[in-house]
Amino acid sequence: MRERWTRRDALGMLGMGAAVAVIPDIVCAAAPSFPKGAVIRTVLKDYPPNELAGGATLFHEHMSFPPDFLARFRRYTEETRAANGLPNPPPAGGAPPPAPASGPYFAQDLDLMVDELSIAKREGISCIVDGGHPDMGRDINFLRQVSLKSGLPIVAGAGFYTQPFYPKDIGTMSEEQIAQALIKQATSDQAGVFGEIGSWDEITKDERKVFRAIARAHRATNLSIFTHTGIPGKSALEQLDILEDAGVDPRRVAIGHLGNLVEPLVQVHKAICRRGAFVGFDRQGGPGDAQQVPLVMALLEAGYADNLMFSSDFANAALLKRNNPQMGYAKTLTVFVPKLKAAGANDEVLRQIMVDNPRRFLAFVPKRPRT
Ligand SMILES: [Zn+2]
Repeated sequence: MRERWTRRDALGMLGMGAAVAVIPDIVCAAAPSFPKGAVIRTVLKDYPPNELAGGATLFHEHMSFPPDFLARFRRYTEETRAANGLPNPPPAGGAPPPAPASGPYFAQDLDLMVDELSIAKREGISCIVDGGHPDMGRDINFLRQVSLKSGLPIVAGAGFYTQPFYPKDIGTMSEEQIAQALIKQATSDQAGVFGEIGSWDEITKDERKVFRAIARAHRATNLSIFTHTGIPGKSALEQLDILEDAGVDPRRVAIGHLGNLVEPLVQVHKAICRRGAFVGFDRQGGPGDAQQVPLVMALLEAGYADNLMFSSDFANAALLKRNNPQMGYAKTLTVFVPKLKAAGANDEVLRQIMVDNPRRFLAFVPKRPRT
């Protein structure tokens, strides 16, 4: 089935609907068609991909994690840098997140998260992916409640994150045992994607094993895969190599955090696009935007619009709407996309990247019915 998008729709998504209401509707493109039987699997139901064409899909965010997650992340980062003789960067600037004196942690606060996602929905988000999984402390029932009460479809990721977060016995498990654990997790959590699947620094032996197990679990379930890279760009091509060598079609893979790889010639980004995979600019709507806009423009110039996905990897209470009205979960769309538009990216390309590409990435034909 083909859909038709109008210029008014595209601009409407960018928050410019009222300003251009006088412009006659012009059909500017046909959106993608999907394989027969393809769905986008959310925590509450499976959607035909066309049902989620009314707004943007954010392919890598976090709505559920415990208070110690970010502390663990920082500690492992410091330990790894120290082990490699590297100085630790100064703490990120800005005020510390204004935490309430009492009450639940923001990523465990149902009412707060329902408010935040309801606003994101009004700002043009149709669907949002949570990139957590059990080893990161993600609570699937929390996501179900948030989706039910906000009305925003949420796709749950499944997987194992990175070496410091793996369950203790990962080293002794075989590749097949890990694959079976992944399939079990994806089935019980009704996951719609594998991700985020990462390497922390240099890819470790266990991380290679998990990547190969992910490839096996992908072949068994047909779920797509998005990754986490640590040191900017370092393991990006190698992650894709491992997955492709293990039989994964690169078109089903998004290599993540490549906005962190600030390199004017975008050679790694282009190499990934040429192989057919997606490149994730997934920490958008913040201070990094300025240096990443030229990278995205260079990739558009090179003809790789089909291979780009944008998101924000949201995990910072200070950037909630409640604490900063300019930000919120939709900041990729409301803060970053206008910067690309100002740099010359056209509305149709931006619509395609925000609306079509993540649906093409997430849509899959299930190998077994939803349980
Ligand atoms: Zn993430």
